[in-house]
Amino acid sequence: MIERSLVILKPDAVQRGLIGVIISRFENMGMKVVGMKMKWADRDFSKRHYKDHVEKAFYKGLEDFIVEGPVIAFVVEGIHAIETTRKLVGSTEPKQAAPGTIRGDFAHHSYAYSDKKGIAIKNLIHASDSVENAQKEIELWFDKEELHSYKTVHEKHVF
Ligand code: ADP
Ligand code: MG
Repeated sequence: MIERSLVILKPDAVQRGLIGVIISRFENMGMKVVGMKMKWADRDFSKRHYKDHVEKAFYKGLEDFIVEGPVIAFVVEGIHAIETTRKLVGSTEPKQAAPGTIRGDFAHHSYAYSDKKGIAIKNLIHASDSVENAQKEIELWFDKEELHSYKTVHEKHVF
């Protein structure tokens, strides 16, 4: 039940100065950060990360978006971390994302607007959507020695 999930703060989050406030949300919910880096992804790396989306109509805009600046990638560990992280992140479309979620609180982009402009939905953050994808994404973004095991107080009071 203790899982690891890959989270990426996309270029819009980094450029808007939201790194600290978003990472705080994960710390506040008791998630353990077990790895973290800043990386400027290139187009080849984008295709590897978003391999399930490469053939989709919105992929070109998504690739332009993800390579436009550096991102912060981190791995969180917690109970049902995939599901609980997706809940914190909120729906893909910020317009629909519930208040209290990261996408609902810090963005309001819509599919209609992004389609009209031919750009990706600017929704600040990526989070793995399944245990299998989390494992693949963590392997893509992090070497084994970049991930750490340590004890937090949450393991006494939250876990
Ligand atoms: P999520 O990030 O919520 O898992 P997806 O995996 O479906 O969403 O899509 C990956 C990313 O591609 C989204 O976060 C968003 O930035 C972008 N995206 C998805 N669908 C569209 C769309 N129809 N139009 C524009 N951008 C999209
Ligand atoms: Mg996804």
